[in-house]
Amino acid sequence: MDLVKLVNKRNPLSSDFIPLFLKQDPISKIWLCNEVLQAFNSMSTALTAEHLEPLALISGYRPYDYQHQLYDRKVGFFISHGLSEEASRQKAGSIVALPGCSEHQLGLAADVTTFSMKQLEDPLTEAFACTPEGIWLSQNAHHYGFVLRYPKDKMSITEITYEPWHYRYVGKQHAFSMYALHMCLEEYVLII
Ligand SMILES: [Zn+2]
Repeated sequence: MDLVKLVNKRNPLSSDFIPLFLKQDPISKIWLCNEVLQAFNSMSTALTAEHLEPLALISGYRPYDYQHQLYDRKVGFFISHGLSEEASRQKAGSIVALPGCSEHQLGLAADVTTFSMKQLEDPLTEAFACTPEGIWLSQNAHHYGFVLRYPKDKMSITEITYEPWHYRYVGKQHAFSMYALHMCLEEYVLII
């Protein structure tokens, strides 16, 4: 598995791409690559050792077809609110990745929050960034092989809005380098 595989609008995955070694988290029932799930659990344990809340997984591996459904649903939502089909597709595409263009299809990306925020209707909010757990993650996730994939100051490069909850597993070595160089994946793949 190429841990630094770049997936975005310009670098889509094929519809039949399915990662190897997927494993289901027994608590959330969410699937991730085995190595990623292990790293996630280590990171969550480290948080509790700091007397912080453990992490809740909200999303992990997403099959191509599921991403398709999410995208279609968002387009339908905007059409039902009176937008043209073209405008709806454009607007949906800025919020939900097009099928094949989400790195969740790699099984290497996790959307996370705290257990208490999980109870919220929409647990994936920017407010997570200001929680002790969100702050800890932004400073320590690289020790476990994760990077904050869509930082606020890289939005012009990633073309994805700031997502303090979306962490991408790249392995410890790359995560340390990316953190030290302060680079997002689009920048980093150009120098390795
Ligand atoms: Zn995500």
